[in-house]
Amino acid sequence: MLSAQELNQLTQQTFAGATYGVFINNQWQGADRTFPVENPATGEVLVTIPDAGAPEAAAAIDAAYAALPAWSALPAIQRADLMRKAAALMLEQRERLATIMTLEQGKPISESRGEIAYAASFLSWFAGEAERVYGQIVPASSANKRILVMRQPVGVCVLITPWNFPAAMLTRKLGPALAAGCTAICKPAEQTPLSALELGRIFIEAGFPPGVVNIVPTSDPVPFSETIFADERVRKISFTGSTEVGRILIANSARTVKRMSMELGGNAPFIIFDDADLIPAVKGAVASKFRNAGQTCICANRIFVQRGIYDRFAEAFTREVAAMPVGNGLQPDSLIGPLIDQPARQKIERHVADATAHGAQILTGGAPLPADHNPTGTFWKPTVLANASSQMLVAQEETFGPVAPLIPFSEEDEVLAQANGTPFGLAAYFYTRDVSRVLRIAERLEFGIIGANDALPSTAQAPFGGVKQSGLGREGGSVGIDEYLEVKYVSLGL
Ligand code: NAD
Repeated sequence: MLSAQELNQLTQQTFAGATYGVFINNQWQGADRTFPVENPATGEVLVTIPDAGAPEAAAAIDAAYAALPAWSALPAIQRADLMRKAAALMLEQRERLATIMTLEQGKPISESRGEIAYAASFLSWFAGEAERVYGQIVPASSANKRILVMRQPVGVCVLITPWNFPAAMLTRKLGPALAAGCTAICKPAEQTPLSALELGRIFIEAGFPPGVVNIVPTSDPVPFSETIFADERVRKISFTGSTEVGRILIANSARTVKRMSMELGGNAPFIIFDDADLIPAVKGAVASKFRNAGQTCICANRIFVQRGIYDRFAEAFTREVAAMPVGNGLQPDSLIGPLIDQPARQKIERHVADATAHGAQILTGGAPLPADHNPTGTFWKPTVLANASSQMLVAQEETFGPVAPLIPFSEEDEVLAQANGTPFGLAAYFYTRDVSRVLRIAERLEFGIIGANDALPSTAQAPFGGVKQSGLGREGGSVGIDEYLEVKYVSLGL
């Protein structure tokens, strides 16, 4: 356990000599205003950084547009080399990057280390895809014609990311964008700009030409947004965040008809059938629900448990959850860090109060840590609610916190109707040993990502994304690069 003094020293050392600015053309620029980046575990200001407005957004577009012809013309193998170098540098500097992530985001240091490796994997995996952007020659219907299909970069892309995975959400977009030959303007979340800005340093060190990647931190996304939507040169927006903001961006895109990719909110069902292996199901549910203190878009939001296994599952699950250490993410044994801010805590309080008022019982947790261990008030004990129902707020809304409602069910059709009964369709999970049921349920769940006896499906090689109001398009996998490519058809008369 680190003392308060040791934690303080680690923070000081991490930022000693670090300068942050608006990252344009491989240079750190100032802005008229600044804004503080705070540690959600302590409330202290970590650093104060330039606050980009409309002029900086416009300068970033100029830079990305100027860099586009040379970057897209660079042979794919050379783009891939640079991307692999950046990925290797991220891994070399993993400890520093992970510490910065925990300091600004709050997640346990072990998870931050994992996220840096995961984030680097999008650069190295898409480096391979850069070398495989193939076109087609299609048989024509007349002898004196040839049909050629080319795939070319979309152009300047704007990448907008949330605070919950400040490095991986960015590289999951940057990897395919850079591989395709696009240039980028990244806008990190106002709570977590440092993890993104650190990548700027890495891109310089890897040898990326100026203007290919630009990073624009701001405390107010609206002037940034207005500038990019008004500009014809921005051809694509890729957004990860809430469905509410996603809707606004989709509406704004009509103005200059930009291509859009949307990774939005979820409300994942996690179903345990009577015949599931109990221990893997319990471990999977804990991993899915409590990673990042429950602040992940694909985390289990509603845990449906069949009546024949309900009591055994509830007991074993509660035992594991009650033993999870809560505390500052820099403490090596911490498994649950702080919530990102006060509104996040208020949402959880509202969900727990509504569930208990409607008959759910608290099996563990159900309250914040005591005030003497809770400097910001954002540390919430991991919570299990028994006998919850699909009508409760905790099942209707994305809780985004360490609260696990257990909802009993009897029949397969009944649980499928409840699982699909949401406007969201990002991730869904189920545990069963019946192989026929695996396919039956996977086919009938209306979600983009299915974990069948697997609680952690995210990986660079697989297509990630949602249906219904959870999004448009896919990130990752061989289809991930398609989002950054235009198809051009050349009809050649001989
Ligand atoms: P948010 O929508 O509030 O913010 C996301 C980003 O959008 C931030 O960078 C923010 O500054 C920016 N933004 C907000 N208003 C904007 C505007 N008018 N114009 C341009 N940009 C604007 O979301 P959040 O609270 O940061 O993240 C949590 C949400 O993200 C959850 O709903 C979660 O499910 C979702 N999420 C989805 C995925 C996925 O892959 N589907 C991954 C992670 C998080």
